[in-house]
Amino acid sequence: MNTYDSQVAAGILEKAGFEIAVEGEGTGDGVLISGRPSISQGADIVLMNTCSVRDHAEERVWGRLGLLGAEKKERPELVIGLMGCMVEEHREKLFKRFPYLDLMVGTRHIKELPEMIRQVYETRKQIVRIKQDGISIEYSEFTKRDTGFHAWLPIMTGCNKECTFCIVPMTRGTEVSMPAGEVCREVRRLVADGVKWITLLGQNVNSYNGQGTGNGERGTSEATFPELLEMLCKIDGLDRLSFTTSHPQDATEELFQVIARNPKIGRRFHLPLQSGSDRILKRMKRFHTYAEYKSKIDRLRELVPEISITTDIIVGFPGETDEDHRATRRALEEIRFDGAYIYKYSLRPGTPAARLPDDIPLEVKTSRNRELLLVQQKITEEKSRSLLGKVFTVFVEGRGTDHPKEQVGRMDQDRRVVFEADQSYAGQFIRMELTGLHHETFRAKLV
Ligand code: SAM
Repeated sequence: MNTYDSQVAAGILEKAGFEIAVEGEGTGDGVLISGRPSISQGADIVLMNTCSVRDHAEERVWGRLGLLGAEKKERPELVIGLMGCMVEEHREKLFKRFPYLDLMVGTRHIKELPEMIRQVYETRKQIVRIKQDGISIEYSEFTKRDTGFHAWLPIMTGCNKECTFCIVPMTRGTEVSMPAGEVCREVRRLVADGVKWITLLGQNVNSYNGQGTGNGERGTSEATFPELLEMLCKIDGLDRLSFTTSHPQDATEELFQVIARNPKIGRRFHLPLQSGSDRILKRMKRFHTYAEYKSKIDRLRELVPEISITTDIIVGFPGETDEDHRATRRALEEIRFDGAYIYKYSLRPGTPAARLPDDIPLEVKTSRNRELLLVQQKITEEKSRSLLGKVFTVFVEGRGTDHPKEQVGRMDQDRRVVFEADQSYAGQFIRMELTGLHHETFRAKLV
């Protein structure tokens, strides 16, 4: 979602006549939209898009803000702005902590950035636009996409779940879905603009419920997530449809059936497990047991055998014992995910878990994290190697590597592939045989 917000901001600023000096990687971990080295990297305006999900991401932003403040002493005309979840979380308090910050824009006001920047130049006053309610998704035809063929598309935002570790309900508010008609219109517009592959986004994308007008009014029921997927699959010219991130509670039989019968839907499913211990899952308020989660994975694999399944794990949640940790390790070994993000628990102020003592020492979190990463790396590599020699459909993204004759593509399982081909293949789906593996990138040849 942060990547999408950065793309919207970059597109809108460019359209308004600003030059994008350097774009960040869009990891959501505090990214520079504009800048050259020395943090500002010589840019006149530095705008950081921020994420609050883990403390580490926030720490990086605090560090960068400190460096930018020092730079601003030398160059008072430098304009410093923040957008994203940290703005929603800390609000006006940020101006007190960083008096040289010029502007803050909440996720619901990105379109106002050019006017806010002009106002900063005219008045030299601190400006803030944050609103807690209302929908934060606004489609923009000026979104600056990485390639012409792929687009991110948020369809819902916010979260109604109550996972005790998670700050999202505080920063993004309760769930709001875009009406299905509007999503379809936007998809058609993107396809007419040359897009062939769309990734639907949402904090809990599969709890999408396209009711209402988006202005807070409740309308007649329009579509559930599986129904929306089926509608979008019927749009001519859209060749691949992916989505992220899903929540296990909304991973239903109906959704699995829709994936199984629609080859346009990408063969990668990211489903956060968080822990293999039922005791910890309960403390996290995940509302499922490990056995229930596992039976969903088994069913999905039964219906869609080629599916690649990835997950998120948190180690060191308050009260996590060695036995709980071993249960998570067993879960990784039993399910054999294709990939996993493994995070150390990070206390987020204001969340229900913040009332529990953060009692797992950092060295224990670090060693559990390292252990699970090694277990998962081995599984990921074994699973990837088992694909060598097989033929897959690869979407050619059209961007070369450092090598001028090479192209980069993505399999329908969303795995990265590099191969020799000329630029004319860009934007096409082609059949390729996987011939080699380097870290997590495959080499392939045309068949
Ligand atoms: N929809 C997802 C789910 O099922 O919960 C949530 C996506 S969340 C934005 C991304 C991941 O960040 C989570 O799955 C979780 O593993 C991790 N995360 C969230 N809060 C965290 C915390 N306080 N400490 C460590 N990791 C956290």
